[in-house]
Amino acid sequence: MKIIRHKTLPILVGKVQIGGNAPIVVQSMTKTKTEDVKTTIKQIRQLEKAGCEIIRVAIPNQTAAQALKTIKQQIKIPVIADIHFDYRLALASIKAGADKIRINPGNIGTTWKIKEIIRAAKDYKIPIRIGVNAGSIEKEVLQKYQYPSARAMVASLTKMIDLFENSNFSNLVLSVKAFDVLTTVEAYQNISKHYSYPLHLGLTEAGLPFEGAIRSTTALALLLTKGIGDTIRVSLTGDPVLEVIAGYELLNSLGLREYGPIIISCPTCGRCEVNLFKLTQRVKKALAKYKNPIKVAVMGCMVNGPGEARSADYGIAAGKRSGVIFSKGKVIKKCSEEDLVSALLTEINLS
Ligand code: SF4
Repeated sequence: MKIIRHKTLPILVGKVQIGGNAPIVVQSMTKTKTEDVKTTIKQIRQLEKAGCEIIRVAIPNQTAAQALKTIKQQIKIPVIADIHFDYRLALASIKAGADKIRINPGNIGTTWKIKEIIRAAKDYKIPIRIGVNAGSIEKEVLQKYQYPSARAMVASLTKMIDLFENSNFSNLVLSVKAFDVLTTVEAYQNISKHYSYPLHLGLTEAGLPFEGAIRSTTALALLLTKGIGDTIRVSLTGDPVLEVIAGYELLNSLGLREYGPIIISCPTCGRCEVNLFKLTQRVKKALAKYKNPIKVAVMGCMVNGPGEARSADYGIAAGKRSGVIFSKGKVIKKCSEEDLVSALLTEINLS
Protein backbone atom coordinates (compact mmCIF):
# COMPACT_ATOMS: atom_id res chain seq x y z
CA MET A 1 0.00 0.00 0.00
CA LYS A 2 1.36 3.38 -0.92
CA ILE A 3 0.28 6.47 0.98
CA ILE A 4 -0.55 9.42 -1.28
CA ARG A 5 -0.05 12.58 0.74
CA HIS A 6 -2.44 15.51 0.42
CA LYS A 7 -0.88 18.46 -1.35
CA THR A 8 -0.41 21.30 1.11
CA LEU A 9 1.19 24.72 0.89
CA PRO A 10 4.83 24.78 1.95
CA ILE A 11 5.78 27.01 4.88
CA LEU A 12 9.18 27.61 6.44
CA VAL A 13 9.95 27.41 10.15
CA GLY A 14 13.49 28.73 10.22
CA LYS A 15 15.14 26.49 7.64
CA VAL A 16 12.74 23.58 8.11
CA GLN A 17 9.95 23.20 5.58
CA ILE A 18 6.55 21.94 6.66
CA GLY A 19 4.09 20.91 3.94
CA GLY A 20 4.59 21.01 0.18
CA ASN A 21 6.77 18.07 -0.75
CA ALA A 22 8.77 18.07 2.51
CA PRO A 23 9.02 14.90 4.59
CA ILE A 24 6.72 14.82 7.63
CA VAL A 25 8.52 16.81 10.32
CA VAL A 26 8.97 15.39 13.84
CA GLN A 27 8.63 17.92 16.62
CA SER A 28 8.39 18.04 20.38
CA MET A 29 7.92 20.49 23.21
CA THR A 30 10.18 21.20 26.17
CA LYS A 31 8.95 20.46 29.68
CA THR A 32 11.26 22.90 31.43
CA LYS A 33 10.58 26.45 32.61
CA THR A 34 11.65 28.33 29.47
CA GLU A 35 13.10 31.14 31.59
CA ASP A 36 15.47 28.55 33.11
CA VAL A 37 17.66 28.97 30.05
CA LYS A 38 20.38 26.50 31.01
CA THR A 39 17.99 23.60 31.67
CA THR A 40 15.90 24.41 28.60
CA ILE A 41 18.95 24.43 26.31
CA LYS A 42 20.11 21.14 27.84
CA GLN A 43 16.75 19.52 27.11
CA ILE A 44 16.61 20.91 23.55
CA ARG A 45 20.09 19.54 22.85
CA GLN A 46 19.00 16.09 24.05
CA LEU A 47 16.01 16.36 21.72
CA GLU A 48 18.21 17.47 18.81
CA LYS A 49 20.39 14.40 19.41
CA ALA A 50 17.28 12.20 19.26
CA GLY A 51 16.34 13.72 15.89
CA CYS A 52 13.83 16.41 16.90
CA GLU A 53 13.53 18.80 13.96
CA ILE A 54 11.56 21.68 15.51
CA ILE A 55 11.08 22.50 19.19
CA ARG A 56 8.21 24.33 20.88
CA VAL A 57 8.62 26.10 24.17
CA ALA A 58 5.98 27.52 26.51
CA ILE A 59 5.95 31.31 26.89
CA PRO A 60 3.90 32.00 30.02
CA ASN A 61 5.57 35.35 30.86
CA GLN A 62 7.83 38.10 29.53
CA THR A 63 10.97 36.57 31.08
CA ALA A 64 10.34 33.40 29.07
CA ALA A 65 9.87 35.48 25.89
CA GLN A 66 13.16 37.29 26.48
CA ALA A 67 14.92 33.97 27.19
CA LEU A 68 14.27 32.97 23.56
CA LYS A 69 17.17 35.20 22.41
CA THR A 70 19.77 33.21 24.38
CA ILE A 71 18.11 29.85 23.74
CA LYS A 72 18.15 30.43 19.98
CA GLN A 73 21.87 31.23 19.97
CA GLN A 74 22.74 27.91 21.56
CA ILE A 75 20.60 25.41 19.69
CA LYS A 76 20.45 24.27 16.08
CA ILE A 77 16.75 23.65 15.44
CA PRO A 78 13.99 26.26 14.95
CA VAL A 79 11.94 27.36 17.95
CA ILE A 80 8.17 27.80 18.20
CA ALA A 81 6.79 30.07 20.92
CA ASP A 82 3.63 28.63 22.47
CA ILE A 83 1.31 31.46 23.48
CA HIS A 84 -1.85 31.38 25.56
CA PHE A 85 -3.97 34.30 26.77
CA ASP A 86 -1.64 37.28 26.36
CA TYR A 87 -1.04 38.62 22.83
CA ARG A 88 1.85 40.74 24.17
CA LEU A 89 3.81 37.54 24.82
CA ALA A 90 3.44 36.69 21.13
CA LEU A 91 4.75 40.11 20.13
CA ALA A 92 7.71 39.83 22.53
CA SER A 93 8.50 36.29 21.33
CA ILE A 94 8.45 37.37 17.68
CA LYS A 95 10.87 40.21 18.47
CA ALA A 96 13.07 37.83 20.47
CA GLY A 97 13.51 35.62 17.39
CA ALA A 98 10.82 32.92 17.53
CA ASP A 99 10.72 31.05 14.22
CA LYS A 100 6.98 30.43 14.54
CA ILE A 101 4.16 31.27 16.92
CA ARG A 102 1.45 28.95 18.12
CA ILE A 103 -1.72 30.59 19.35
CA ASN A 104 -4.94 29.13 20.67
CA PRO A 105 -7.95 31.07 19.33
CA GLY A 106 -9.98 30.05 22.36
CA ASN A 107 -7.98 32.13 24.77
CA ILE A 108 -6.15 34.89 22.90
CA GLY A 109 -9.02 37.37 23.15
CA THR A 110 -10.47 40.05 20.90
CA THR A 111 -9.84 40.47 17.18
CA TRP A 112 -7.55 43.50 17.43
CA LYS A 113 -5.13 41.53 19.59
CA ILE A 114 -4.94 38.76 17.00
CA LYS A 115 -4.45 41.37 14.27
CA GLU A 116 -1.49 42.76 16.22
CA ILE A 117 0.08 39.30 16.22
CA ILE A 118 -0.60 38.91 12.49
CA ARG A 119 1.04 42.28 11.78
CA ALA A 120 4.19 41.33 13.74
CA ALA A 121 4.39 37.87 12.13
CA LYS A 122 4.13 39.53 8.70
CA ASP A 123 6.91 42.00 9.58
CA TYR A 124 9.21 39.21 10.75
CA LYS A 125 8.05 36.79 8.00
CA ILE A 126 7.29 33.93 10.35
CA PRO A 127 4.39 31.46 10.28
CA ILE A 128 1.65 31.05 12.87
CA ARG A 129 -0.02 27.83 13.94
CA ILE A 130 -3.66 28.21 14.83
CA GLY A 131 -3.99 25.42 17.37
CA VAL A 132 -7.54 24.62 18.45
CA ASN A 133 -7.81 22.28 21.44
CA ALA A 134 -11.07 20.60 22.44
CA GLY A 135 -10.59 21.80 26.01
CA SER A 136 -10.33 25.48 25.15
CA ILE A 137 -12.80 26.25 22.36
CA GLU A 138 -14.12 29.82 22.23
CA LYS A 139 -17.16 30.39 24.45
CA GLU A 140 -19.60 31.42 21.66
CA VAL A 141 -18.67 28.43 19.51
CA LEU A 142 -19.00 26.06 22.45
CA GLN A 143 -22.39 27.54 23.34
CA LYS A 144 -23.61 26.89 19.81
CA TYR A 145 -22.39 23.28 19.62
CA GLN A 146 -22.92 22.55 23.33
CA TYR A 147 -19.88 20.29 23.72
CA PRO A 148 -16.39 20.16 22.16
CA SER A 149 -17.26 17.97 19.18
CA ALA A 150 -15.22 17.74 15.99
CA ARG A 151 -17.71 20.15 14.40
CA ALA A 152 -17.20 22.66 17.21
CA MET A 153 -13.42 22.50 16.85
CA VAL A 154 -13.63 22.92 13.08
CA ALA A 155 -16.04 25.86 13.49
CA SER A 156 -13.64 27.56 15.91
CA LEU A 157 -10.70 27.03 13.56
CA THR A 158 -12.64 28.16 10.48
CA LYS A 159 -13.61 31.39 12.21
CA MET A 160 -9.99 32.09 12.96
CA ILE A 161 -8.79 31.17 9.45
CA ASP A 162 -11.31 33.68 8.04
CA LEU A 163 -9.79 36.38 10.21
CA PHE A 164 -6.26 35.53 9.06
CA GLU A 165 -7.26 35.34 5.39
CA ASN A 166 -9.11 38.66 5.63
CA SER A 167 -5.83 40.09 6.93
CA ASN A 168 -4.01 38.62 3.88
CA PHE A 169 -2.05 36.20 6.01
CA SER A 170 -1.58 32.69 4.68
CA ASN A 171 1.66 31.66 6.37
CA LEU A 172 -0.33 29.20 8.46
CA VAL A 173 -0.20 25.78 10.04
CA LEU A 174 -3.40 24.31 11.49
CA SER A 175 -4.22 21.87 14.25
CA VAL A 176 -7.44 20.59 15.86
CA LYS A 177 -6.49 18.34 18.75
CA ALA A 178 -8.71 16.54 21.21
CA PHE A 179 -8.16 13.87 23.86
CA ASP A 180 -10.59 11.61 22.07
CA VAL A 181 -9.10 9.70 19.13
CA LEU A 182 -12.15 9.60 16.87
CA THR A 183 -13.06 13.26 17.50
CA THR A 184 -9.51 14.24 16.56
CA VAL A 185 -9.56 12.12 13.40
CA GLU A 186 -12.95 13.51 12.32
CA ALA A 187 -11.85 17.10 12.89
CA TYR A 188 -8.61 16.75 10.91
CA GLN A 189 -10.34 14.96 8.04
CA ASN A 190 -12.84 17.77 7.82
CA ILE A 191 -10.15 20.47 7.86
CA SER A 192 -8.03 18.73 5.24
CA LYS A 193 -11.01 18.62 2.88
CA HIS A 194 -11.44 22.39 2.98
CA TYR A 195 -7.94 23.86 3.37
CA SER A 196 -4.51 23.32 1.89
CA TYR A 197 -2.57 24.79 4.80
CA PRO A 198 -0.13 22.28 6.31
CA LEU A 199 -1.47 20.31 9.25
CA HIS A 200 0.22 19.70 12.59
CA LEU A 201 -1.07 16.36 13.92
CA GLY A 202 -1.33 15.43 17.56
CA LEU A 203 -3.57 14.17 20.31
CA THR A 204 -3.79 16.27 23.46
CA GLU A 205 -3.29 14.84 26.94
CA ALA A 206 -2.50 11.44 25.41
CA GLY A 207 -1.17 9.99 28.67
CA LEU A 208 1.85 8.12 30.03
CA PRO A 209 4.46 6.93 27.51
CA PHE A 210 3.11 3.42 26.86
CA GLU A 211 -0.61 4.25 26.75
CA GLY A 212 -0.01 7.69 25.23
CA ALA A 213 2.10 6.30 22.39
CA ILE A 214 -0.61 3.75 21.56
CA ARG A 215 -3.41 6.34 21.68
CA SER A 216 -1.43 8.89 19.65
CA THR A 217 -0.39 6.28 17.11
CA THR A 218 -3.99 5.14 16.70
CA ALA A 219 -5.16 8.67 15.89
CA LEU A 220 -2.16 9.75 13.85
CA ALA A 221 -1.92 6.52 11.85
CA LEU A 222 -5.59 6.78 10.84
CA LEU A 223 -4.84 10.24 9.44
CA LEU A 224 -1.38 9.58 8.02
CA THR A 225 -2.54 6.54 6.04
CA LYS A 226 -5.12 8.82 4.40
CA GLY A 227 -2.31 11.18 3.42
CA ILE A 228 -3.21 13.78 6.05
CA GLY A 229 -0.51 15.47 8.13
CA ASP A 230 2.69 17.45 7.55
CA THR A 231 4.25 17.54 11.02
CA ILE A 232 3.62 15.45 14.11
CA ARG A 233 4.07 15.62 17.84
CA VAL A 234 3.42 12.55 19.94
CA SER A 235 2.50 14.24 23.26
CA LEU A 236 3.45 12.09 26.24
CA THR A 237 3.47 12.53 30.01
CA GLY A 238 7.15 11.71 30.23
CA ASP A 239 10.59 12.42 28.82
CA PRO A 240 10.18 14.43 25.58
CA VAL A 241 12.94 12.36 23.96
CA LEU A 242 10.39 9.51 23.98
CA GLU A 243 8.04 11.74 21.95
CA VAL A 244 10.66 12.01 19.22
CA ILE A 245 11.47 8.29 19.29
CA ALA A 246 7.75 7.45 19.10
CA GLY A 247 7.28 9.94 16.24
CA TYR A 248 9.97 8.33 14.10
CA GLU A 249 8.81 4.82 15.00
CA LEU A 250 5.36 5.73 13.73
CA LEU A 251 6.58 7.37 10.51
CA ASN A 252 9.09 4.57 9.84
CA SER A 253 6.34 1.99 10.32
CA LEU A 254 4.21 3.65 7.65
CA GLY A 255 7.14 4.13 5.28
CA LEU A 256 6.75 7.90 5.54
CA ARG A 257 10.29 8.45 6.87
CA GLU A 258 13.41 6.34 7.01
CA TYR A 259 15.17 7.34 10.17
CA GLY A 260 17.42 5.24 12.41
CA PRO A 261 17.32 1.53 13.10
CA ILE A 262 14.11 -0.48 13.21
CA ILE A 263 14.48 -3.27 15.74
CA ILE A 264 12.60 -6.43 14.90
CA SER A 265 12.39 -8.82 17.85
CA CYS A 266 10.34 -11.94 18.42
CA PRO A 267 7.96 -12.22 21.38
CA THR A 268 9.85 -15.37 22.53
CA CYS A 269 8.22 -18.70 23.34
CA GLY A 270 9.07 -22.04 24.91
CA ARG A 271 11.82 -22.59 22.31
CA CYS A 272 13.83 -19.60 23.53
CA GLU A 273 17.00 -20.42 25.52
CA VAL A 274 18.25 -16.90 26.20
CA ASN A 275 17.07 -13.77 28.05
CA LEU A 276 15.85 -12.10 24.86
CA PHE A 277 14.39 -9.06 26.63
CA LYS A 278 17.85 -8.16 27.94
CA LEU A 279 19.58 -9.01 24.68
CA THR A 280 17.15 -6.82 22.67
CA GLN A 281 17.67 -3.91 25.07
CA ARG A 282 21.44 -4.28 24.66
CA VAL A 283 21.11 -4.21 20.85
CA LYS A 284 18.80 -1.19 21.01
CA LYS A 285 21.23 0.71 23.24
CA ALA A 286 24.19 -0.21 21.04
CA LEU A 287 22.37 1.10 17.94
CA ALA A 288 21.05 4.30 19.56
CA LYS A 289 23.62 6.51 17.81
CA TYR A 290 22.84 5.14 14.33
CA LYS A 291 20.68 7.49 12.25
CA ASN A 292 20.74 5.50 9.00
CA PRO A 293 17.70 3.38 8.26
CA ILE A 294 18.56 -0.22 9.02
CA LYS A 295 16.43 -3.18 10.07
CA VAL A 296 17.99 -5.27 12.82
CA ALA A 297 16.41 -8.44 14.19
CA VAL A 298 16.87 -10.10 17.56
CA MET A 299 15.33 -13.56 17.51
CA GLY A 300 14.96 -16.14 20.24
CA CYS A 301 15.93 -19.33 18.39
CA MET A 302 18.26 -20.38 15.63
CA VAL A 303 15.78 -22.69 13.91
CA ASN A 304 13.09 -20.15 13.15
CA GLY A 305 14.88 -16.83 13.74
CA PRO A 306 16.82 -16.16 10.51
CA GLY A 307 13.94 -17.25 8.28
CA GLU A 308 11.24 -15.42 10.21
CA ALA A 309 13.27 -12.22 10.15
CA ARG A 310 14.32 -12.52 6.50
CA SER A 311 13.48 -8.86 5.87
CA ALA A 312 16.10 -7.71 8.39
CA ASP A 313 19.36 -6.28 7.07
CA TYR A 314 21.16 -7.90 10.01
CA GLY A 315 20.09 -10.02 12.92
CA ILE A 316 20.94 -12.19 15.86
CA ALA A 317 19.32 -15.58 16.41
CA ALA A 318 20.18 -16.80 19.86
CA GLY A 319 20.45 -20.41 20.96
CA LYS A 320 21.70 -22.03 24.16
CA ARG A 321 24.79 -20.04 25.26
CA SER A 322 25.57 -19.31 21.59
CA GLY A 323 23.93 -17.86 18.52
CA VAL A 324 24.30 -16.78 14.92
CA ILE A 325 24.53 -13.48 13.08
CA PHE A 326 22.48 -13.42 9.91
CA SER A 327 21.78 -11.04 7.05
CA LYS A 328 18.65 -11.18 4.87
CA GLY A 329 17.87 -14.64 6.24
CA LYS A 330 21.38 -16.11 5.60
CA VAL A 331 23.63 -17.13 8.50
CA ILE A 332 27.00 -15.38 8.22
CA LYS A 333 28.68 -16.11 11.54
CA LYS A 334 28.37 -18.30 14.65
CA CYS A 335 29.50 -17.05 18.05
CA SER A 336 29.14 -17.37 21.81
CA GLU A 337 26.25 -15.62 23.59
CA GLU A 338 28.48 -12.96 25.12
CA ASP A 339 29.97 -12.03 21.72
CA LEU A 340 26.64 -11.74 19.86
CA VAL A 341 26.14 -7.96 20.21
CA SER A 342 29.72 -6.99 19.33
CA ALA A 343 29.72 -9.41 16.36
CA LEU A 344 26.47 -7.87 15.13
CA LEU A 345 27.93 -4.36 15.38
CA THR A 346 31.05 -5.44 13.51
CA GLU A 347 28.93 -6.74 10.62
CA ILE A 348 26.80 -3.56 10.54
CA ASN A 349 29.87 -1.32 10.59
CA LEU A 350 31.49 -3.31 7.79
CA SER A 351 28.44 -2.94 5.55
FE1 SF4 B 1 9.75 -18.69 19.50
FE2 SF4 B 1 11.90 -18.85 17.94
FE3 SF4 B 1 9.67 -17.64 17.03
FE4 SF4 B 1 11.13 -16.48 18.90
S1 SF4 B 1 11.79 -16.92 16.80
S2 SF4 B 1 8.93 -16.71 18.92
S3 SF4 B 1 11.85 -18.20 20.09
S4 SF4 B 1 9.92 -19.79 17.54
